[in-house]
Amino acid sequence: MLEFVVASGKGGVGKSLVSSTLAVVLHRSLGNVIAVDADADAPNLHLLLGVERWSEEKPLVISKVAYIIEDRCTGCGECAKVCTYEAVKTVNGRYVIDPFLCEGCGACIFVCKSMAIKRRMEETGRIRMAWTKYGFPLISAKLNVGKPNSGKLVTEEKEWAKSIASRPSLIITDSAAGIGCQVIASLAGASLAILVTEPTPAGFSDLKRVYAVTRHFMMPSVLVINKFDLNPSYVRVIEEFARREGIEIVGQIPFDDKIPLSMAMMKPYIEAYPETETAKVLINIAEKIREIYLDWWNWLKEHRPREPRPYRPKILPPESFKSV
Ligand code: SF4
Ligand code: SF4
Repeated sequence: MLEFVVASGKGGVGKSLVSSTLAVVLHRSLGNVIAVDADADAPNLHLLLGVERWSEEKPLVISKVAYIIEDRCTGCGECAKVCTYEAVKTVNGRYVIDPFLCEGCGACIFVCKSMAIKRRMEETGRIRMAWTKYGFPLISAKLNVGKPNSGKLVTEEKEWAKSIASRPSLIITDSAAGIGCQVIASLAGASLAILVTEPTPAGFSDLKRVYAVTRHFMMPSVLVINKFDLNPSYVRVIEEFARREGIEIVGQIPFDDKIPLSMAMMKPYIEAYPETETAKVLINIAEKIREIYLDWWNWLKEHRPREPRPYRPKILPPESFKSV
């Protein structure tokens, strides 16, 4: 079983466009794809794939929320002083905890001399599975209101995907944007990162950050440049970076204002506008990924990073923000 993760440092650069294309085209030719939408904050792969009904759904209970046992509370207010999330409020003179603001850190429990605060597990969200009309299953997640996204949720999604794989399968994970814990959970244990960027300073800067995370894990990656025709001079900057790092560019997608229309139609772009130049480019990218999949072990031997490059993010102390 191989797992290819479509990732980008920045949101809105075309990750889901690439993921939906890969899932549809590769399932047609290989017949073994499982798609995972790992962006529980803003899941949209089910919309692109026209999913109208979930076949199975299960709750995910991973977050803790504090609550006050009213008759033990003396009203000293110590809990409110330590809660940096401002979750402790007074209502009609009584201290209560707002479950939407509480992060379950436990600081209030630590300072409450009356032992009046406890924590309970709360449903964080739901994980869902649907059979798409293209013949492959999609696993997606949805957070409950006010609940934080987490790597644990992504890990649960990937575990579900693995559990339904009945034979050698290709899992295509559409990661969240950025380099947070959901992205790290998406990349953990995966075989290949398919990085998507756009030719802008922000796109390039965020590409370098997510690439640094893939290098930390010694994971091979390939690159897709979206909207390449909007800023050709910046494309050259990205190409130079890819050349220096030995990253294969598997395709450059032109700007196309029909992409949002295909989303509104709840269809993958290649299904909505199959005759366009953009569709040809997208199918060509999928073909290159298919070649990599079919020749995986040889490709890996050639492209796997040779040595680790630990990623140490810069931690800025609070004092450094004072002048801002
Ligand atoms: S610290 Fe404990 S006793 Fe004091 S207000 Fe909070 S819950 Fe009540
Ligand atoms: S658990 Fe943490 S976030 Fe929740 S109320 Fe207590 S101090 Fe605030």
